[in-house]
Amino acid sequence: MNTVNQTVAIVTGGGSGIGLAITEKFIQNNITTVIVGRDPEKLHQAKQNLGTLCIPIVADLSDLEAIPALVKQVITQFGRIDILVNNAGINMKKEFTEVTNEDFQKVIQTNLVGVFALSREVVKTMLPNKKGSIVNISSMAAQYGIPKVIAYSASKTAIEGMTRAMATELSPQGIRINCIAPGFIATDMTSKAFNQDVERKNKALGRTPMGVMGMPGDIGDAALFLATDSSRYITGVVLPVDGGNSIGF
Ligand code: NAD
Repeated sequence: MNTVNQTVAIVTGGGSGIGLAITEKFIQNNITTVIVGRDPEKLHQAKQNLGTLCIPIVADLSDLEAIPALVKQVITQFGRIDILVNNAGINMKKEFTEVTNEDFQKVIQTNLVGVFALSREVVKTMLPNKKGSIVNISSMAAQYGIPKVIAYSASKTAIEGMTRAMATELSPQGIRINCIAPGFIATDMTSKAFNQDVERKNKALGRTPMGVMGMPGDIGDAALFLATDSSRYITGVVLPVDGGNSIGF
């Protein structure tokens, strides 16, 4: 078991994209970071690059039954969880009328129900310590309407509501809950969406006052701030990290 002085974080989807950048920032700041994802190869690669403070666990967070055992595994190994970053997510771009119930439920299961179930189990372990910080990851799809991403928009908008509800209920007990709404960040998720649709890319950048896409590390910096005591009097906020996209014309 780890020493009591060690700060322990879980970052879901920590093997790639934004989650990997968050993990890098945490490890640079000496935070033991458990990365949870589905792809063992990606997780292994991250561990190779990031070293002993990076702890990979392979799990599919849409499998709700497996979540309590996952949290128990972290507690058995490290004795505590100080930080949870709910970063794992999937997107699905389809015409509204083409989206099946199964499509819709699949996105909601990963982006919303999995986040709820993991947060609940982690909060149970934080309550006795009267301290903890949870950072959720939302999207511009929760700030304004984006066509053809109906389930994704529903899931991310719900995440912001859940952030506020959890903050009001849990902050009196020392657990802060905040949310980051990334703008358009250069990762696999956006390159997939934008490479097939240049018009969409130009539209996104056209309303971004800073005129460029963000880098995963920009979200990493914000997550480090919200996860640690630098933000100790902040709870229940949604912080856009978006080059001004959410307020752009
Ligand atoms: P990504 O596809 O590179 O990373 C997503 C990660 O989540 C992957 O590692 C994937 O394996 C993991 N994941 C997905 N489903 C999972 C499951 N069921 N169980 C375990 N792990 C699972 O995408 P990204 O761009 O880095 O996105 C990270 C987060 O940021 C997502 O929540 C996404 O919605 C959000 N986001 C991204 C952008 C952007 O511009 N890239 C913008 C807004 C919000």
